[in-house]
Amino acid sequence: MSGDAAAVVAAVEAVAERIQAERSHLTDLDSAIGDADHGGNMARGWAEAADAVADLDDPDVQTVVKTAGKTVLSEVGGAAGPLYGGSLVFASQELEGGITPETAVAFAETYLEKVKDRGDASVGAGTMVDALTPAVHTFKKSIETDDLPPLEAFAKAVAAAEAGVQFTVPIRASKGRASYLGWRSVGHQDPGATSTLYIMEELLETAADELDSEVPDVDASSPTIPDAEAAEN
Ligand code: ADP
Ligand code: MG
Repeated sequence: MSGDAAAVVAAVEAVAERIQAERSHLTDLDSAIGDADHGGNMARGWAEAADAVADLDDPDVQTVVKTAGKTVLSEVGGAAGPLYGGSLVFASQELEGGITPETAVAFAETYLEKVKDRGDASVGAGTMVDALTPAVHTFKKSIETDDLPPLEAFAKAVAAAEAGVQFTVPIRASKGRASYLGWRSVGHQDPGATSTLYIMEELLETAADELDSEVPDVDASSPTIPDAEAAEN
């Protein structure tokens, strides 16, 4: 198995462990604005996905991601199963040539587009899209425009996802079960945005391990705000 494929197998295992560890927290979030199944569904699905990818015989990266996606799709019920699983299966095609900064950006963009398509949700609907969108945009810009090392770009993407999770708290959900609550969804953190962040954190940890590096410390957004005084002088 290629080193990259082995790293992706390790990443799926790390995600399964993290989701299991966060299971009751995700359930609590979903019980506040949904039906309390997100933790259990995700924990079962990712555990099955970890088993499925561990059983593959000399897979390439695309096959590992596709297998994880198919398993999540069939094992995780509710809205999250098709959103996570179906989008992973679809986006896995971008990794046909293995993992490079370019294919990673293409994978992230295709995954985001698929989630948005399937869920018919855009930013501000109070869903996982609110964590994913800033993460994917930040990752793409960090690689393509800022020419950052991939691990730093990924760390910035995770920081952006974290800001996206916080963004779901004060807004009213307009997609998914939380939308049934109307204004009562205001003040609640979205479970799917939260699990998206956990998954990204584990991918980052695994990538850092793979590169024998520490996870880089980054500013949440590093915005470039024009200095008004300097502009006047
Ligand atoms: P269900 O809502 O069917 O019980 P889960 O509890 O497993 O499914 O997942 C809920 C999460 O799925 C939400 O927190 C939200 O992030 C995400 N979600 C729900 N509907 C949509 C949608 N239409 N578009 C994007 N994400 C959605
Ligand atoms: Mg639910």
